Amino acid sequence: MHKETRTPSSIYAPGAVLLISCYELGHRPIGLTRPLRALESAGFSPDTIDIAVETLDTEKVSCAEFIGISVPMHTALRLGVHLLQRIRELNPDVPICMYGLYAELNADYLLSHGVDYCISGETSTQLVALVQSLVEKQQTSQVTINSGKLPTLEKYAQFEDNDEVRTVGYTETTHGCKHLCTHCPIPPIYNGRFFPLQRDTVLDEIQKQVAEGATHITFGDPDFLNGPMHGLRILRAMYDFYPDLTYDFTTKIEHILKHKKHFPEFAQLGCRFIISAVESLSETVLTILEKHHTRADVETALEIVHGAGIALRPTWVPFTPWTTLDDYLEILEFVNTHRLVYHVDPIQYAVRLLIPPGSYLLNRPETKVLDLTLDQTAFSYMWTHPDARLDELHKTVNTLVEKDARNGVDTKDTFYRIWELAADMKGQPIPKRRNVSYLPAPRITEAWFC
Ligand code: SF4
Repeated sequence: MHKETRTPSSIYAPGAVLLISCYELGHRPIGLTRPLRALESAGFSPDTIDIAVETLDTEKVSCAEFIGISVPMHTALRLGVHLLQRIRELNPDVPICMYGLYAELNADYLLSHGVDYCISGETSTQLVALVQSLVEKQQTSQVTINSGKLPTLEKYAQFEDNDEVRTVGYTETTHGCKHLCTHCPIPPIYNGRFFPLQRDTVLDEIQKQVAEGATHITFGDPDFLNGPMHGLRILRAMYDFYPDLTYDFTTKIEHILKHKKHFPEFAQLGCRFIISAVESLSETVLTILEKHHTRADVETALEIVHGAGIALRPTWVPFTPWTTLDDYLEILEFVNTHRLVYHVDPIQYAVRLLIPPGSYLLNRPETKVLDLTLDQTAFSYMWTHPDARLDELHKTVNTLVEKDARNGVDTKDTFYRIWELAADMKGQPIPKRRNVSYLPAPRITEAWFC
């Protein structure tokens, strides 16, 4: 999808192609590493800036002949759009491409606000094709920028488990997802398809990051168990090379139940935690989101994962137009009962459903009856809850979580304060703080939030 074309003359020069990442959940952005490698293989000498850990190098921006901005998630898109104006001031005519999941979903807005190209899906291949299409003469001019290196892994979020700290590398073994959860931004782009990456490509990425000091690998596939044997073969090979390396991955509850026999081996191969998008325990909400699991399934998944000696870190979407105050309280009670207080980053209790343009949720009858308005600048449809208390609770919890995070308040204290707020709103007695030992909760030091 594009607005106009332009023909640069020196796009093979070092730094002429500039890729910028704004935010990728605290890890080294694969939205830079994979396109960087693809462009280098095609003969270009791209440079990068990761503004999550670096300042915007204005000289790099001013001299670029093509700029790609990676927008794999909502937060990255908002930051990327903010950056656009500054880039245009520095380099008014440079072709700008936004790439990643949220680019095509919001293409109408982006193409009319200073972006020239929007691509999603298999972005590395498409970026190379796009840059090649801009080449009129394959000549190298004397641009005096050195092709830069990505920031070191120490600049990114770390693995933590009590006193144990590890440097984290990041890779993905697949793109896309074979499932069609309605609230997820992946189905509108991939439509139920997923693509395994070549085993050697993934192992090579792991090897390079281990050489840089990584001792833990995050597999950031949308769902690592879409192709379980593909993932397992990679893990076995990784273990053969690096038996002390630990790792984490993300998978849905349904897959934990379906592939339960593999969890002891995942643990033996170094798995320390698994993230799973539980989202809700309410049957109504889970049906609308088409998650294909129930509260009982979540409890079984916990037994499977914790039984194997791996931690399960559930993620939630506790504020939706269909979530009741009882549903919200049920999540808190569940977390407490299952001793998961430290397995959930407090920001999770403030997550509000995003409905981006093109979302599969817009096809659901329950959504069609809502009074939705698209706020293009927020890249989402706006909704209000029929029970005004839930919107009020969302605001209060959001403010509390942000403030507590700034002040370094212990997760357990934030959790109980949120629970007290919700219980008070319901007119229930203040929940009693349990004097229990919480389960070990290994984590990456960046709250999971997209
Ligand atoms: S929420 Fe997870 S399982 Fe569902 S479509 Fe998205 S990536 Fe796939």
